[in-house]
Amino acid sequence: MKDDLGPYLRRTAFWMADRLRRPAVHRQLRDIADQLFVGAEGDAVKRERLQSLLEHAASTTMHYREWSGCTDLGDFPVLRKSEISENKGAFESTTYAGQQLPLMSTSGSTGTPMQFRLSRLKRCRQKAEIIYFSGLAGFKLGMRHANVRIIRNKRPLRYWMENQVLFDPSVIDEFWLVQARRELKDPAMVFLTGYARPISILAKYCAEEGDEAGMFSLKSVVPTAEGLTVDERHTIERVFGCPVINRYASQEFGVLAQECPSGRLHLNTASYVIEILALNDDHPAPPGQVGRVVVTDLFSHAMPLIRYDIGDLAILSPDRCPCGDPTPTLAQLQGRLVEMILDTRSQMISPFVLVNNLREVKGISQFRFIQSARDRYELMLATAATFQDEAVVKQLLRKYLGEEANVVVGRVKEIPPLASGKRPYIINEYLKESLRGGAWNLNFTQKI
Ligand SMILES: [Zn+2]
Repeated sequence: MKDDLGPYLRRTAFWMADRLRRPAVHRQLRDIADQLFVGAEGDAVKRERLQSLLEHAASTTMHYREWSGCTDLGDFPVLRKSEISENKGAFESTTYAGQQLPLMSTSGSTGTPMQFRLSRLKRCRQKAEIIYFSGLAGFKLGMRHANVRIIRNKRPLRYWMENQVLFDPSVIDEFWLVQARRELKDPAMVFLTGYARPISILAKYCAEEGDEAGMFSLKSVVPTAEGLTVDERHTIERVFGCPVINRYASQEFGVLAQECPSGRLHLNTASYVIEILALNDDHPAPPGQVGRVVVTDLFSHAMPLIRYDIGDLAILSPDRCPCGDPTPTLAQLQGRLVEMILDTRSQMISPFVLVNNLREVKGISQFRFIQSARDRYELMLATAATFQDEAVVKQLLRKYLGEEANVVVGRVKEIPPLASGKRPYIINEYLKESLRGGAWNLNFTQKI
């Protein structure tokens, strides 16, 4: 189908301006495509980039000085967020000392916030990653799209140039829902991305208002940051009439993986070395088993991130993806560790088990489940006025958490968003506290 003039002009203007940029986005875009599709030749380039990053880190940062001459990634220590937060300066490369690179920060809403610096090349690479992976989801630069996220420095001209509409989910009320629904119904609006939970709430609202597939022009919905339940995903696909394509991305890195039509998350091996390590030690987790996602960013020269434990759990697929793309895949991204639940015997429970069970209890409209101590849990419920099944819910939770679980149920009118605007169903304060101390002394076993 022919693009209308707006997106075409915007796209042309962007690429013309990019010709003058140093570094240029188009070069990184081409490199990503090359690296994801070439075989042995690409592996040699990646090996070279990794070696150069390791050498650079050892020769220009305080933290990695003692790893000078070390060429094997496996000999480098796994890095925790708290280590960087405690001594950020030791990770900053002296090469970039004079460049006054802006200090950026992760939201820290569900984990420890972290401040980091990105070189100009890295920021350019991040842009190229978004353009590349959005392209796989049917989006072309300049097309009208909506982004659900909180942005502190709003630059209206930039949004206009990019043809982007921002849905800030700090407050999701009737006004927000009405506005967002109207924008989404614009026939030019072809792409929706951003926090999963507000997108899910929006889809549910549109369904309740009687909307159905043919009323939207969306080509795909790409949720990030929070996992969707199976039900939520189905609702979004049914109402908006387009596929949901999961993206695994983070602020300190960029796009780490994206879902293919076969439902697996293909790793972005063009920019990162991604390891899945065991829960209790730093050895690789066998494919098919849950492990921690540990990332080395081949483009993190301003502040080298080598074997950085991002705080998420995932399962590496044991075999090649049936879609034909040879890059390794995650069979499952289990989400953030601080959104995992431990039962009273410290066995890990998949959050989806609780989420799916609670969603089946009639009368519950929203909930948030918080683990505050080893055996203490709090369930925040927003319910219909007639709801009286608290005892049933407690019994249901004890079935999974253990009979001795101390479960408190509180009622609220609405579940409030976190300061970041995210609305996780599950928060594990107990794990968050344990991780802040830098300790990894919890004895995990996978229960489900
Ligand atoms: Zn695939």
